[in-house]
Amino acid sequence: ATPMSVITGVGRAADYGVLIKDADAIQQAANIDVVIFDKTGTLTEGKPSVTSLHSEIKDENQLIRLAASIEQGSEHPLAVAIINEAEKRDIKLLTSNAFRAIPGMGVQAEIDGEIFYLGNLAMMTRAKVDTSKWANKQSESGSNSETLVYLANQRKLLGVVGISDPVRSDSAAAVKKLKSMGLSVVLLTGDRQQTAQHIAEKLGIDTVISGVLPDAKEAEVQRLQSQGLKVAMVGDGINDAPSLARADLGIAMGSGSDIAVESGSVTLMRHSIDSVADTLSIAKATIRNMK
Ligand code: ADP
Ligand code: MG
Repeated sequence: ATPMSVITGVGRAADYGVLIKDADAIQQAANIDVVIFDKTGTLTEGKPSVTSLHSEIKDENQLIRLAASIEQGSEHPLAVAIINEAEKRDIKLLTSNAFRAIPGMGVQAEIDGEIFYLGNLAMMTRAKVDTSKWANKQSESGSNSETLVYLANQRKLLGVVGISDPVRSDSAAAVKKLKSMGLSVVLLTGDRQQTAQHIAEKLGIDTVISGVLPDAKEAEVQRLQSQGLKVAMVGDGINDAPSLARADLGIAMGSGSDIAVESGSVTLMRHSIDSVADTLSIAKATIRNMK
Protein backbone atom coordinates (compact mmCIF):
# COMPACT_ATOMS: atom_id res chain seq x y z
CA ALA A 1 0.00 0.00 0.00
CA THR A 2 1.15 3.54 -0.67
CA PRO A 3 1.94 5.38 2.59
CA MET A 4 -0.29 8.34 3.37
CA SER A 5 2.64 10.77 3.37
CA VAL A 6 3.46 9.82 -0.25
CA ILE A 7 -0.11 10.55 -1.29
CA THR A 8 0.17 13.89 0.51
CA GLY A 9 3.49 14.57 -1.25
CA VAL A 10 1.98 13.84 -4.68
CA GLY A 11 -0.87 16.20 -3.80
CA ARG A 12 1.46 18.98 -2.66
CA ALA A 13 3.48 18.65 -5.87
CA ALA A 14 0.25 18.94 -7.87
CA ASP A 15 -0.29 22.34 -6.22
CA TYR A 16 2.94 23.41 -7.94
CA GLY A 17 1.72 22.10 -11.30
CA VAL A 18 3.91 19.02 -10.97
CA LEU A 19 2.30 15.71 -11.93
CA ILE A 20 3.99 12.68 -10.35
CA LYS A 21 3.06 9.36 -11.94
CA ASP A 22 3.93 6.90 -9.18
CA ALA A 23 5.11 6.56 -5.59
CA ASP A 24 8.49 5.29 -6.76
CA ALA A 25 9.16 8.66 -8.44
CA ILE A 26 8.89 10.38 -5.03
CA GLN A 27 11.50 7.97 -3.66
CA GLN A 28 13.82 8.65 -6.61
CA ALA A 29 13.29 12.41 -6.46
CA ALA A 30 14.39 12.49 -2.82
CA ASN A 31 17.84 11.09 -3.69
CA ILE A 32 18.95 13.01 -6.80
CA ASP A 33 22.62 14.14 -7.10
CA VAL A 34 22.70 15.59 -10.62
CA VAL A 35 20.09 17.44 -12.67
CA ILE A 36 20.62 17.38 -16.44
CA PHE A 37 18.82 19.96 -18.57
CA ASP A 38 18.15 19.76 -22.29
CA LYS A 39 18.56 23.19 -23.89
CA THR A 40 15.99 23.84 -26.60
CA GLY A 41 12.45 24.07 -25.26
CA THR A 42 13.61 23.31 -21.72
CA LEU A 43 16.04 26.06 -20.63
CA THR A 44 15.01 28.17 -23.61
CA GLU A 45 11.52 29.19 -24.63
CA GLY A 46 11.69 26.84 -27.61
CA LYS A 47 10.36 29.55 -29.90
CA PRO A 48 13.41 30.44 -31.96
CA SER A 49 13.43 33.09 -34.68
CA VAL A 50 15.83 34.10 -37.47
CA THR A 51 18.10 36.89 -36.22
CA SER A 52 20.84 37.05 -38.86
CA LEU A 53 21.54 36.05 -42.41
CA HIS A 54 24.72 35.53 -44.35
CA SER A 55 24.18 34.86 -48.05
CA GLU A 56 26.77 33.61 -50.52
CA ILE A 57 24.21 34.07 -53.30
CA LYS A 58 22.96 37.43 -54.58
CA ASP A 59 19.32 37.12 -53.59
CA GLU A 60 18.95 36.81 -49.82
CA ASN A 61 15.28 35.87 -50.22
CA GLN A 62 16.25 32.93 -52.44
CA LEU A 63 18.34 31.60 -49.52
CA ILE A 64 15.31 31.75 -47.22
CA ARG A 65 13.06 30.32 -49.97
CA LEU A 66 15.29 27.24 -50.40
CA ALA A 67 15.82 26.74 -46.66
CA ALA A 68 12.11 27.05 -45.84
CA SER A 69 11.13 24.78 -48.74
CA ILE A 70 13.41 22.05 -47.39
CA GLU A 71 12.18 22.51 -43.80
CA GLN A 72 8.54 21.94 -44.84
CA GLY A 73 9.14 18.29 -44.00
CA SER A 74 10.50 18.96 -40.51
CA GLU A 75 8.83 19.77 -37.19
CA HIS A 76 12.06 20.87 -35.52
CA PRO A 77 11.85 24.29 -33.78
CA LEU A 78 14.60 25.53 -36.14
CA ALA A 79 12.42 24.51 -39.11
CA VAL A 80 9.51 26.50 -37.67
CA ALA A 81 11.79 29.56 -37.28
CA ILE A 82 12.93 29.40 -40.92
CA ILE A 83 9.41 28.86 -42.28
CA ASN A 84 8.12 31.78 -40.17
CA GLU A 85 10.85 33.99 -41.65
CA ALA A 86 9.75 33.05 -45.19
CA GLU A 87 6.16 33.93 -44.26
CA LYS A 88 7.24 37.26 -42.79
CA ARG A 89 8.98 38.07 -46.07
CA ASP A 90 5.98 36.92 -48.15
CA ILE A 91 8.14 34.29 -49.84
CA LYS A 92 6.33 31.55 -51.79
CA LEU A 93 7.80 28.12 -51.05
CA LEU A 94 8.98 25.62 -53.68
CA THR A 95 7.96 21.97 -53.92
CA SER A 96 10.57 19.70 -52.36
CA ASN A 97 10.98 15.93 -52.73
CA ALA A 98 12.99 13.12 -51.19
CA PHE A 99 13.02 14.83 -47.78
CA ARG A 100 15.28 13.21 -45.22
CA ALA A 101 16.05 14.14 -41.61
CA ILE A 102 19.46 13.25 -40.17
CA PRO A 103 19.02 13.20 -36.35
CA GLY A 104 21.20 15.71 -34.52
CA MET A 105 22.49 17.16 -37.79
CA GLY A 106 19.80 18.54 -40.06
CA VAL A 107 17.73 17.83 -43.14
CA GLN A 108 18.09 17.36 -46.87
CA ALA A 109 15.68 17.49 -49.81
CA GLU A 110 15.52 17.74 -53.59
CA ILE A 111 14.26 20.89 -55.30
CA ASP A 112 14.10 21.12 -59.12
CA GLY A 113 16.28 18.01 -59.41
CA GLU A 114 19.01 19.39 -57.15
CA ILE A 115 19.81 18.09 -53.66
CA PHE A 116 20.18 20.63 -50.86
CA TYR A 117 21.62 20.14 -47.38
CA LEU A 118 20.58 22.20 -44.36
CA GLY A 119 21.90 21.82 -40.83
CA ASN A 120 24.90 22.20 -38.55
CA LEU A 121 28.61 21.77 -39.30
CA ALA A 122 28.37 18.00 -38.81
CA MET A 123 25.70 18.00 -41.53
CA MET A 124 28.04 19.95 -43.84
CA THR A 125 30.91 17.56 -43.14
CA ARG A 126 28.60 14.65 -43.88
CA ALA A 127 27.64 16.25 -47.23
CA LYS A 128 31.35 17.00 -47.91
CA VAL A 129 30.75 20.76 -48.11
CA ASP A 130 33.74 23.03 -47.56
CA THR A 131 32.94 25.66 -44.88
CA SER A 132 36.48 26.85 -44.14
CA LYS A 133 36.02 30.22 -45.87
CA TRP A 134 32.95 30.94 -43.73
CA ALA A 135 34.63 29.66 -40.57
CA ASN A 136 37.33 32.33 -40.92
CA LYS A 137 34.75 35.11 -41.36
CA GLN A 138 32.72 33.73 -38.47
CA SER A 139 35.58 33.81 -35.97
CA GLU A 140 35.82 37.59 -36.60
CA SER A 141 32.14 38.47 -36.19
CA GLY A 142 30.71 35.46 -34.35
CA SER A 143 27.60 35.99 -32.26
CA ASN A 144 27.84 33.10 -29.83
CA SER A 145 24.22 33.12 -28.80
CA GLU A 146 23.00 32.07 -32.24
CA THR A 147 22.46 28.58 -33.57
CA LEU A 148 23.87 28.54 -37.10
CA VAL A 149 22.05 26.65 -39.83
CA TYR A 150 24.11 26.09 -42.98
CA LEU A 151 22.57 25.71 -46.46
CA ALA A 152 24.51 24.02 -49.26
CA ASN A 153 23.94 22.32 -52.58
CA GLN A 154 26.12 19.44 -53.76
CA ARG A 155 28.85 21.84 -54.81
CA LYS A 156 29.14 24.57 -52.22
CA LEU A 157 27.90 26.53 -49.21
CA LEU A 158 25.07 28.92 -50.19
CA GLY A 159 24.60 30.69 -46.89
CA VAL A 160 24.17 30.62 -43.15
CA VAL A 161 21.01 31.41 -41.17
CA GLY A 162 21.50 32.60 -37.57
CA ILE A 163 18.69 31.63 -35.21
CA SER A 164 18.13 32.72 -31.60
CA ASP A 165 15.98 31.12 -28.97
CA PRO A 166 15.52 33.31 -25.88
CA VAL A 167 16.35 31.77 -22.51
CA ARG A 168 13.28 31.30 -20.27
CA SER A 169 12.97 34.13 -17.78
CA ASP A 170 12.96 31.72 -14.82
CA SER A 171 15.85 29.48 -15.93
CA ALA A 172 18.58 31.31 -13.99
CA ALA A 173 16.59 31.25 -10.73
CA ALA A 174 15.79 27.56 -11.22
CA VAL A 175 19.48 26.67 -11.67
CA LYS A 176 20.48 28.80 -8.67
CA LYS A 177 17.92 27.06 -6.45
CA LEU A 178 19.16 23.60 -7.44
CA LYS A 179 22.78 24.55 -6.83
CA SER A 180 21.91 25.97 -3.42
CA MET A 181 20.38 22.58 -2.61
CA GLY A 182 23.82 21.07 -3.28
CA LEU A 183 22.93 19.51 -6.62
CA SER A 184 25.15 19.46 -9.72
CA VAL A 185 23.56 20.98 -12.81
CA VAL A 186 24.49 19.86 -16.34
CA LEU A 187 23.49 21.28 -19.74
CA LEU A 188 23.14 18.57 -22.39
CA THR A 189 22.43 19.60 -25.97
CA GLY A 190 22.74 18.72 -29.62
CA ASP A 191 23.60 22.33 -30.36
CA ARG A 192 27.15 23.58 -30.95
CA GLN A 193 29.61 24.27 -28.15
CA GLN A 194 29.69 28.11 -28.42
CA THR A 195 25.91 28.47 -28.14
CA ALA A 196 25.69 25.97 -25.28
CA GLN A 197 28.59 27.65 -23.42
CA HIS A 198 27.00 31.07 -23.86
CA ILE A 199 23.75 29.92 -22.27
CA ALA A 200 25.51 27.98 -19.50
CA GLU A 201 27.48 31.08 -18.48
CA LYS A 202 24.31 33.17 -18.48
CA LEU A 203 22.59 30.65 -16.20
CA GLY A 204 25.49 29.69 -13.94
CA ILE A 205 25.72 26.09 -15.17
CA ASP A 206 29.23 24.67 -14.71
CA THR A 207 29.08 21.52 -16.82
CA VAL A 208 28.27 21.65 -20.55
CA ILE A 209 27.98 18.67 -22.84
CA SER A 210 27.30 19.85 -26.42
CA GLY A 211 27.08 18.48 -29.95
CA VAL A 212 25.44 15.34 -28.58
CA LEU A 213 23.47 13.08 -30.94
CA PRO A 214 20.07 11.88 -29.62
CA ASP A 215 21.37 8.36 -28.80
CA ALA A 216 24.34 9.80 -26.97
CA LYS A 217 22.08 11.76 -24.61
CA GLU A 218 21.00 8.47 -23.08
CA ALA A 219 24.60 7.25 -22.94
CA GLU A 220 25.53 10.41 -21.06
CA VAL A 221 22.88 9.68 -18.41
CA GLN A 222 24.25 6.14 -18.09
CA ARG A 223 27.83 7.40 -17.80
CA LEU A 224 26.88 9.57 -14.79
CA GLN A 225 24.90 6.71 -13.26
CA SER A 226 27.90 4.42 -13.58
CA GLN A 227 29.77 6.86 -11.32
CA GLY A 228 27.19 6.06 -8.64
CA LEU A 229 25.24 9.27 -9.15
CA LYS A 230 21.44 9.51 -9.08
CA VAL A 231 20.40 11.42 -12.17
CA ALA A 232 17.34 13.55 -12.96
CA MET A 233 16.87 14.47 -16.63
CA VAL A 234 14.69 17.41 -17.66
CA GLY A 235 13.63 17.55 -21.32
CA ASP A 236 10.87 18.17 -23.81
CA GLY A 237 11.76 16.68 -27.17
CA ILE A 238 11.37 13.38 -29.01
CA ASN A 239 15.16 13.24 -28.87
CA ASP A 240 15.03 13.43 -25.06
CA ALA A 241 12.69 10.44 -24.65
CA PRO A 242 15.40 7.73 -24.30
CA SER A 243 17.32 9.75 -21.69
CA LEU A 244 14.13 10.63 -19.78
CA ALA A 245 13.34 6.91 -19.58
CA ARG A 246 16.93 6.00 -18.60
CA ALA A 247 17.30 8.63 -15.84
CA ASP A 248 16.51 7.77 -12.22
CA LEU A 249 13.95 10.55 -12.49
CA GLY A 250 12.64 11.68 -15.89
CA ILE A 251 11.05 15.15 -15.77
CA ALA A 252 9.18 16.17 -18.93
CA MET A 253 7.94 19.63 -19.86
CA GLY A 254 4.15 19.49 -20.18
CA SER A 255 4.53 21.60 -23.31
CA GLY A 256 6.83 18.96 -24.81
CA SER A 257 6.22 16.12 -27.23
CA ASP A 258 3.86 13.28 -26.20
CA ILE A 259 6.67 10.73 -26.23
CA ALA A 260 8.74 12.85 -23.85
CA VAL A 261 5.80 13.11 -21.42
CA GLU A 262 5.22 9.34 -21.65
CA SER A 263 8.91 8.60 -21.02
CA GLY A 264 9.17 10.66 -17.84
CA SER A 265 7.71 9.90 -14.42
CA VAL A 266 7.14 13.58 -13.65
CA THR A 267 5.43 16.20 -15.84
CA LEU A 268 5.77 19.97 -15.31
CA MET A 269 2.39 21.44 -16.21
CA ARG A 270 3.41 25.08 -15.72
CA HIS A 271 5.82 26.31 -18.36
CA SER A 272 8.33 26.81 -15.62
CA ILE A 273 11.44 24.81 -14.77
CA ASP A 274 11.45 26.52 -11.38
CA SER A 275 9.23 23.66 -10.21
CA VAL A 276 12.09 21.16 -10.65
CA ALA A 277 13.56 22.34 -7.34
CA ASP A 278 10.09 22.31 -5.73
CA THR A 279 9.60 18.71 -6.84
CA LEU A 280 12.89 17.57 -5.30
CA SER A 281 12.24 19.48 -2.05
CA ILE A 282 8.74 18.09 -1.65
CA ALA A 283 10.04 14.58 -2.29
CA LYS A 284 12.76 14.98 0.36
CA ALA A 285 10.24 16.27 2.92
CA THR A 286 7.86 13.43 2.07
CA ILE A 287 10.47 10.72 2.58
CA ARG A 288 11.63 12.36 5.85
CA ASN A 289 8.04 12.21 7.14
CA MET A 290 7.91 8.47 6.43
CA LYS A 291 10.90 7.71 8.64
P1 ADP B 1 18.66 20.05 -29.31
O1 ADP B 1 17.16 19.98 -29.09
O2 ADP B 1 19.39 19.55 -28.08
O3 ADP B 1 19.15 21.41 -29.70
P2 ADP B 1 18.66 18.28 -31.76
O4 ADP B 1 19.20 16.91 -31.64
O5 ADP B 1 17.21 18.42 -32.05
O6 ADP B 1 19.15 19.06 -30.45
O7 ADP B 1 19.44 19.03 -32.92
C1 ADP B 1 20.82 19.16 -32.86
C2 ADP B 1 21.30 20.09 -33.93
O8 ADP B 1 21.06 19.53 -35.24
C3 ADP B 1 20.58 21.43 -33.94
O9 ADP B 1 21.14 22.34 -33.04
C4 ADP B 1 20.78 21.85 -35.41
O10 ADP B 1 22.06 22.40 -35.56
C5 ADP B 1 20.71 20.53 -36.18
N1 ADP B 1 19.36 20.25 -36.70
C6 ADP B 1 18.52 19.26 -36.31
N2 ADP B 1 17.36 19.30 -37.00
C7 ADP B 1 17.44 20.37 -37.84
C8 ADP B 1 16.56 20.96 -38.82
N3 ADP B 1 15.34 20.48 -39.07
N4 ADP B 1 17.01 22.06 -39.47
C9 ADP B 1 18.22 22.57 -39.21
N5 ADP B 1 19.09 22.07 -38.33
C10 ADP B 1 18.73 20.98 -37.65
MG1 MG C 1 14.59 20.12 -26.58
